[in-house]
Amino acid sequence: MTDKASTAHRELWGHPIGLYVLFLTEMWERFSYYGMRAILVIYMIATATDPNGPGLGWSDEEALMLYGWYVMLVYLLSIPGGILADRLWGQRKTVMIGAITLVAGHGTLAIEETWAFFTGLGLIILGVGMLKPNISTMVGGLYREGDIRRDKGFSIFYIGINLGSLLATTFVGLIVAEYGWHAGFGMAGIGMLLGLVVYLRGQKYLTHVGNAPEKVVDPNEVTFGDLFRDLLKSPLHLGITLVLIAISISMGFILTGIDKWGYVALFTFLSLVVGMLMMIYKDLSDQIQKDRFIVILITFALVIVFWGAFEQAGGLMSIYTEQKTDRVLFGWTIPTPMFQGLNAGFITIFAVIVANFWARRKLKSKEASSIFKMAMGTIIMGLGFVWMVLAAAEYDANDSSSMIWLVLAYFFHTIGELSLSPVSLSFVTKLAPLKYASLMMGLYFAATGLGGKVAGIVGESASDFGEYAVFSGITIFTVVFALLIIAVLKPLKRLTHGAEEAEREMSEEAAETLDV
Ligand code: GLN
Repeated sequence: MTDKASTAHRELWGHPIGLYVLFLTEMWERFSYYGMRAILVIYMIATATDPNGPGLGWSDEEALMLYGWYVMLVYLLSIPGGILADRLWGQRKTVMIGAITLVAGHGTLAIEETWAFFTGLGLIILGVGMLKPNISTMVGGLYREGDIRRDKGFSIFYIGINLGSLLATTFVGLIVAEYGWHAGFGMAGIGMLLGLVVYLRGQKYLTHVGNAPEKVVDPNEVTFGDLFRDLLKSPLHLGITLVLIAISISMGFILTGIDKWGYVALFTFLSLVVGMLMMIYKDLSDQIQKDRFIVILITFALVIVFWGAFEQAGGLMSIYTEQKTDRVLFGWTIPTPMFQGLNAGFITIFAVIVANFWARRKLKSKEASSIFKMAMGTIIMGLGFVWMVLAAAEYDANDSSSMIWLVLAYFFHTIGELSLSPVSLSFVTKLAPLKYASLMMGLYFAATGLGGKVAGIVGESASDFGEYAVFSGITIFTVVFALLIIAVLKPLKRLTHGAEEAEREMSEEAAETLDV
């Protein structure tokens, strides 16, 4: 082994040193992402007389509209970000360019100008799209195929994500209260700069992962481009897609509001996705694959519902915390952003406990299939909104509501997240035929992003219906939806044709690892 190669493979505490480089890079990236998310909406609605300084003075509705688009685009851009790395630059370089773009984006937000606000958001969307999916791929690349430490590596990495979020929501909140909004945005930028420095300095431990283009594109693998070409050749499916696109465009003339053309673009995109999904279904050769595909679509629906409710954290719940919650503790007013840190804090405490709970159930041969876990996660998260309903009721009665409701809500949201999030993507990849694996990963990110947009829309409706109705609606919808899935669990499992069981037998040991 050459000197360079042996440095790259050096280990510390039982894992490649590269893992710690990626851990710290992602920790600072999430620091900047969640630090900014924690103040984004309350900055947009802050008026000229706000104690933290003047914000944009927008209505709640306008702020949540932009929030929805922003979260959606952040996740949607992971698709081109992943493709860019696979085909052109490799993950290592794409992450680096993403990190530089993020430093520029957060830095731009620190400038007190409206143009800077939009430019900054645009750069952050591009930067996260390049960094987030690819850094995770690199973590996987640090371990050889079949290395049982890989799942543990991802668990450590997940702790980095939440540590970043926890630090950010704490410090950015304090900085904003002391020095104003733009200092908070700047702080997020400094965090990302530290991430970039760690990443650049740690390059010597990463020379063997994410090289361009490490993943030799499998000639059998189907891409978005292939599907699009097939769609053009199939008159029936093309016809249906064109009708959907025509309906989408006509919405532009019917809808009102400043974001109507945004919706036209979104529905046109979704029409194309429907067309592509039809082409995949048509292409699948046997019934087993077709059945599994149906389960994937149901999983996507669950993912959209889950994040559509969960992402209220940075949206309506953030506004609620700022405007309607009594945040005074022992005479000190807790800054609003800090409440979003509860999610990360609870994850750090409960990740292992929840993973152990599901592992024990599986050992006792009780129900612990991925679909069941995801549905239960959605129910638990949905029940978290019961506390928000109580908060809204208290506010309606007393003009103020206790912060304990938020603590309870975030606790339930976290337990729900820990049941759904770690299994959903891997479940989709287990069910997808190999040649569609990358594509399904892209669509999974799209579903998460769509959830973000749904969160914005649902939050916006509070301006018409009030928080009490909206939080109640979220509870009822999420719980009923997930209960319906549990009601058809048996037939759904039949449709998977033993995909999980087969996988479990193949890697009993890996399945037992506490994967969070
Ligand atoms: N909190 C996790 C992260 O930031 C998961 C977020 C998500 O998948 N929507 O990586």
